[in-house]
Amino acid sequence: MKAAVNHQFKGQLEIQDIDVPEITSNDVLVKIHACGVCHTDLHACHGDWPVKPKMPLVPGHEGVGEVVKIGANITHLKLGDRVGIPWLYSACGQCDYCLSGDENLCLSQQNSGYSVDGSYAEYCKANGNYVIKIPDNLSYIDAAPLFCAGVTTYKALKVSDAKPGNWVAIFGIGGLGHLAVQYAIAMGLKVVAIDTGEDKLNLAKSLGASLCLDFKTDDVVSQVLEHTNGVHASICTAVSKSGFEQSYQVIRRGGKCVLVGLPPEEMPLPIFDTVLNGVSVVGSIVGTRKDLIECLDFAAQGKVKAITIEKSLDDINAIFDDMQNAEITGRVVMKL
Ligand code: NAD
Ligand code: ZN
Ligand code: ZN
Repeated sequence: MKAAVNHQFKGQLEIQDIDVPEITSNDVLVKIHACGVCHTDLHACHGDWPVKPKMPLVPGHEGVGEVVKIGANITHLKLGDRVGIPWLYSACGQCDYCLSGDENLCLSQQNSGYSVDGSYAEYCKANGNYVIKIPDNLSYIDAAPLFCAGVTTYKALKVSDAKPGNWVAIFGIGGLGHLAVQYAIAMGLKVVAIDTGEDKLNLAKSLGASLCLDFKTDDVVSQVLEHTNGVHASICTAVSKSGFEQSYQVIRRGGKCVLVGLPPEEMPLPIFDTVLNGVSVVGSIVGTRKDLIECLDFAAQGKVKAITIEKSLDDINAIFDDMQNAEITGRVVMKL
């Protein structure tokens, strides 16, 4: 089968012919029809984080397609079912986190396109208990970005505890952020969007953001504070330390700063301000299977729709270049 394979950190991905994965009794084999390109895939191929991915690696954790083989233990799926394979490839199902509904925090989890091969390929193996069915009225292209960008931002908004009518600031209007704006609006929140360039800010405006600021030319912190008196929550998807600092500085007393982006940097946290202002700073990592089902349902109801740019697997190195240069407006989805 055709696959894009990373052999070396920061090297070019190679389009190769590799074996179709063998499945065991808890697995399914999915014929991939589309896969979104997440900035996490770029971090993986650059070896940006303390925990390194397998190598060689087939990246990709927004793969969607049809089930073409089913292991003996998987009884709830049938051939031809349309499913997606999220970042949470599997969890143990037995630990305190899994039993408490926090399977996304399971210490024994496997991650698609990181600890196991992912969906930048014609076929992908998945744990049958962790794939999620795609609602009938969603196309593969529309569904793919929801399997990471969608569920991650939907979950982050839940974690933020923001209530209808509250202000939320979304830092970074990329693949994740443009969906965060939509989920926030669908939840009845008022949105401030921060990124740079007309394309991304116009997109945020068209998706319902009340205030759109350019981090390169606007005084983001003072303008957000002036307009909102401080936001109830901020969701930082920016791949830059300065975005994180600003996402903290715009929070009102008692508010929550939700960290989602994963630049390999440290964020200074002022103790005095955090204590006096009663601010929470919290990380949020993807979502559970239940979060994913809920997030797909928003899209099935027409409340959220990813802005997609269709490409092919052969384009992957150019797509990574564009992503590195922050030149993508929406989410690139590769058709396979
Ligand atoms: P992306 O490249 O599509 O978007 C990132 C955006 O951040 C770009 O539009 C860029 O212009 C913008 N940006 C950069 N500096 C900024 C600043 N100072 N202020 C505001 N915006 C700024 O990336 P993506 O796919 O949306 O992923 C974003 C980050 O989220 C990555 O680090 C990725 O690894 C991480 N991620 C985290 C999770 C999670 O579960 N926590 C899940 C998926 C992705
Ligand atoms: Zn992702
Ligand atoms: Zn577990």
